[in-house]
Amino acid sequence: MEPDCLFCKIVAGEIPSTPLYQDEHSFAFRDLNPQAPFHVLVVPKQHFTDIADLGGDAAASAGLLAGIRAVTEQQGVPSFRTVFNTGAEAQQTVFHVHAHVLAGRPFEWPPG
Ligand code: AMP
Ligand code: ZN
Repeated sequence: MEPDCLFCKIVAGEIPSTPLYQDEHSFAFRDLNPQAPFHVLVVPKQHFTDIADLGGDAAASAGLLAGIRAVTEQQGVPSFRTVFNTGAEAQQTVFHVHAHVLAGRPFEWPPG
């Protein structure tokens, strides 16, 4: 756990969230400011800054993908948009890697 990391504190239960799924590697909870009817964040329980940092750990990377698979399967969401913002220029604001999993409305491509 990284001191002063919002998502480490959510995983530890020190800050309240609406969890939907968790296992050994990952924790999934509802985004506080949803951008779609279904907007869940899936994070590794271990602290990694961003997807590049996470990519150095094969087990944790696979664990995060398994968490995305599990929460979408559990919630009955077969089609979804997955976003990893990486770096401030790409609108990352919380520096504990998280997958945004969005569904329940039409999406455009290319993304904005
Ligand atoms: P990003 O801008 O990609 O770093 O995404 C951070 C996300 O965290 C945003 O979508 C926020 O709405 C969300 N967020 C911030 N604080 C909380 C919180 N306490 N509980 C749930 N989601 C949060
Ligand atoms: Zn963290």
